[in-house]
Amino acid sequence: MMEKWQAAVPGMRATVAENGVLWYGFPALLAHGERLLHGFSSRVGGVSCGAQGTLNLAFAKEFPRDHNYDDPQNVLENLRRYGAALGFKAEELVFSQQEHGVNILVATDEHRGCGVTRGRGYSNIDGLITGVRGLPLITHHADCAALFFYAPQAQLIGVAHAGWRGTIGDGELGMGKAMVRRLVSLGAQAEELLCGISPSAGPCCYQVGEEVAAQFAPLAARHGEQLARPDGTGRYLLDIWQANRLMLIEAGVPAANISIAGGCTICHADIFHSHRAGHGHRGSLAAVMMLR
Ligand SMILES: [Zn+2]
Repeated sequence: MMEKWQAAVPGMRATVAENGVLWYGFPALLAHGERLLHGFSSRVGGVSCGAQGTLNLAFAKEFPRDHNYDDPQNVLENLRRYGAALGFKAEELVFSQQEHGVNILVATDEHRGCGVTRGRGYSNIDGLITGVRGLPLITHHADCAALFFYAPQAQLIGVAHAGWRGTIGDGELGMGKAMVRRLVSLGAQAEELLCGISPSAGPCCYQVGEEVAAQFAPLAARHGEQLARPDGTGRYLLDIWQANRLMLIEAGVPAANISIAGGCTICHADIFHSHRAGHGHRGSLAAVMMLR
């Protein structure tokens, strides 16, 4: 299995931890492991069942309002297992509250546990940033990409959720660029940033309509690239990995500092929770980052 799990995500390193928890890390960020903890989860190694099986890392609303309902005790156990694998405490996580926007919360000690042990008190937050050591940040994913940010000089981290809406934003300011700008406003240099783009719906499978494809045309044109390719059925296949990469480059991040995981969650729905492959029935993956 290990060979297959590694081959599915060529740009990240696969690790199997205690309880069989499979997670992925970017080599360029793992190289900073002394001061930085980060990871992108799989669906392997948890206790949840059915479509949420087995490593589901997001709490659900009550059944039947949420057809992806999972027992909160299962989710907490899964978060603890993921925490044991990476080295964070589930009870200290700061959760996003994702609505496909480009809003960012700069988390401080007062946010510790928000979304796990207590209510969040904030909404419409798709990006999290902190400079606080020992404060783990988490975003949730099931076909949408996670964007990872590390400023080794400024000692700041950020993690964000970017589906096609967040990736492109208003056409100019997508989530990647919004994260870079906020990190820079907090003292980071764009040139020092190390960025990672997680597994997500890939250019092989991410079918979108013409209206969505059109929103990516100006970004593609600015770089002489094609980000949405006609698939022969009147629809388009969108490359949000490349779109996010171009947005980060526009924000001043050196191209050499950007890692693309390259794993498609729809192709590999046995390894990752996929909204599209599961026709809406699925659990959630999670990106986590923490300064040690
Ligand atoms: Zn695919």
